[in-house]
Amino acid sequence: MKLKRILVTGGAGFLGSHLCERMVDAGHDVICLDNFFTSQKNNVAHLLNRPNFELIRHDITTPVWLEVDQIYNLACPAAPGHYQFNPIKTIKTSVMGVINVLGMAKRCRARVLQASTSEVYGDPEVHPQSESYRGNVNPIGPRACYDEGKRAAETLFMDYYRMNRVDIRIVRIFNTYGPRMHPFDGRVVSNFIRQALLGEDLTVFGDGQQTRSFCYRDDLVEGLIRMMDATDLIGPLNLGNPDEFTIEQLAELIIELTGSRSQVVTQPLPVDDPVRRRPDISLARKHLDWQPRVALRDGLEKTIKWFRSIDFENYRPPTPNF
Ligand code: NAD
Ligand code: UDP
Repeated sequence: MKLKRILVTGGAGFLGSHLCERMVDAGHDVICLDNFFTSQKNNVAHLLNRPNFELIRHDITTPVWLEVDQIYNLACPAAPGHYQFNPIKTIKTSVMGVINVLGMAKRCRARVLQASTSEVYGDPEVHPQSESYRGNVNPIGPRACYDEGKRAAETLFMDYYRMNRVDIRIVRIFNTYGPRMHPFDGRVVSNFIRQALLGEDLTVFGDGQQTRSFCYRDDLVEGLIRMMDATDLIGPLNLGNPDEFTIEQLAELIIELTGSRSQVVTQPLPVDDPVRRRPDISLARKHLDWQPRVALRDGLEKTIKWFRSIDFENYRPPTPNF
């Protein structure tokens, strides 16, 4: 295998830090670029003394000049409370930031992978969601800064591919969880585990009958790497775990696995919260020979173990919206 110079934007985040770790361990020269909006340096502190790892504090909405062979573009706030905190900044990250990243890929002739999202399907009328479904996004709602930003980013990727022959990959990631999720990011898995461990009520939004399909971090990152190395498709390609659960089931499972005495309380459902979500991963199975290996129960056990090992006091809630 040829060693490469790899840039991971958003590399200090939940998924990015694990990807950096994988790439450093494989011997590649890794540049992790992050503005630390939703992450902390301690996610990559253990990599700082590795000779093939470099950390840059930078915001992708302004250009940066680097020489690399591959770019994983993960920079973007991902949790609803984070991306809605400053919606204009969120959409700038997915448009101006992506133009900067694609410009770099064009200049360096680098292969560039975009971390897109199941949110491009909005509140889907088709179930499960396959890549051919064009989605049902509310363009003027509170989630639009993220959903429409990611849709525009896919458009930019395709236009740079068609017009400038940039070597692109687009991956649509479905809900992913695991160690190093920010404990105050407001996402359902981190919220429920934190609440259960602290003996607080678990906050189920709405009637808890909405569904999500949860993919463990390691499975997802393996899929990203396989897609980057794939030679026969550019995407968009769904990556996620097709096992579907209601939010109520997730709450019950987390209470069981933590042995918590917490109760479930209900809170109002956020605007435009998708009702059902499950990926059709036929394309990933066929082209990448990829499918998730870690069942929800096993992945949650690993994640709970990590949450038990951290001191919540060391984590700043990045936004008041958790
Ligand atoms: P995360 O918030 O932990 O990571 C995002 C990282 O990007 C953070 O380190 C943040 O500080 C950084 N960042 C944000 N804006 C930036 C900017 N303008 N310049 C530089 N850095 C910036 O979230 P994550 O779950 O690791 O998500 C990583 C990527 O995967 C995101 O693009 C997200 O949209 C996508 N994704 C994640 C999921 C999921 O379930 N985890 C699902 C769909 C898509
Ligand atoms: N949710 C919940 N309680 C919480 C946080 C989230 O019931 O404390 C619900 C949320 O309304 C949504 C689902 O869990 O239906 C997943 O939310 P998350 O923010 O993790 O991700 P989304 O898939 O909505 O982007």
